[in-house]
Amino acid sequence: MNPNLEMKLKEELEELKNNNLNRTIDDLRFISSTKAIDKDGKEFLVFGTNNYLGLTHQPDVINASKKASTYGTGSTGSRLTTGASFEARELEENLSKFKSTESTLIFNTGYMANLGIIYTLTKEDDIIFSDQLNHASIIDGTRISKAKVRVYKHKDTKDLENLIQTEIKELKEKNINSSNFFIVTDGVFSMDGDIAPLPELVEIANKYNCCLIIDDAHATGVIGKTGKGTVEYYKDKTGIDLTESVDLQIGTLSKALASEGGFVCGKKTYIDYLINKSRPFIFSTALSPSTIASANAALNLLKKNSNEYLTKLQNNTKLMRNLLKEGGLNVIDGETPIIPIIIGPADLTNKFSKELEKEGILVSAIRPPSVPKGESRLRLTVIATHTKEEITFTAKTIIKIWNDLKKKLEYENH
Ligand code: PMP
Repeated sequence: MNPNLEMKLKEELEELKNNNLNRTIDDLRFISSTKAIDKDGKEFLVFGTNNYLGLTHQPDVINASKKASTYGTGSTGSRLTTGASFEARELEENLSKFKSTESTLIFNTGYMANLGIIYTLTKEDDIIFSDQLNHASIIDGTRISKAKVRVYKHKDTKDLENLIQTEIKELKEKNINSSNFFIVTDGVFSMDGDIAPLPELVEIANKYNCCLIIDDAHATGVIGKTGKGTVEYYKDKTGIDLTESVDLQIGTLSKALASEGGFVCGKKTYIDYLINKSRPFIFSTALSPSTIASANAALNLLKKNSNEYLTKLQNNTKLMRNLLKEGGLNVIDGETPIIPIIIGPADLTNKFSKELEKEGILVSAIRPPSVPKGESRLRLTVIATHTKEEITFTAKTIIKIWNDLKKKLEYENH
């Protein structure tokens, strides 16, 4: 028993509450890809999931999961012991083909993939250059790594190159010549929804011999003509295929692929090394066959119907972005279905999200530490299965609530 510790924790929680930064878990049950009910049976339209293609409720995906659950509800062990299901191998081979890489390895979550890749590959004397707005799992991977970490300004390749040159100078002075350099970036940034400048990053990685790692969690199934992610997005734009220039493409099964789990695609040597050395991979029970089979079914659907899904997703994204901007909302410009509406103060963002909830719409309020102080926002996401009517109704409701909140604020500050 340590009553003092409990008291200190309570005080910290109180402080979070007072600053509108406390987090609670609100239970939901999805009844379709876009609608959910709460414990009281109230129905909500959801504009906050990462279920970008709406495949969580697609019958083929559900049936694949059901069928594989007949092989047991759990995987029974780590992949290196008894947890190596046929389904995992099949999905890895499918992902390698999809991403045009030699090999793929599944992790239990995208979070564990980032953690387990970054700290396993980077050693003392190595240097990791990480974008300022990278996902928390990348940041945590760099934090537990023994390598030095330099954070470059968001998407600022000049800043990145300056940092690299400074580090090269320092290493020369210290007579160290065994360092490996790593550049790590989100493909699509999870909170701003913008896209990494991959061609420039490749140029710098080639110039300074850096291992380039990209986290395509929000890009896979979302950008690129056939949903292959950031590499394909730039191939469509420039005609240049950067597959061979990116060392590792990380992803998750939990967003467009409608399941759970993480993965990494790249050269076989990297994958074999991770199988042998990555502790989050080695020491955790593998995903169940049904979890993996549902992701594989979603991937097969994406491969078959990419044109239909991505056209719907892009049309929905454009419609929502245009309506919100016309309504005067402070939306961060972009082309992905992650649509951040910047509000500023955390309390106002909370209030906004609660008002939307009263109208039957769920949009997540994102506050520090997920985003910098003063940049709290509604993080709205549209998915391929939202209807035009749902999007129009939601945009109109958001605009009305924002105008009412603004009027109230002006009155209070008068
Ligand atoms: N990378 C990014 C960019 C993410 O946004 C997330 C989760 N939101 C993850 C990794 C972690 O993936 P998972 O949810 O599968 O752990």
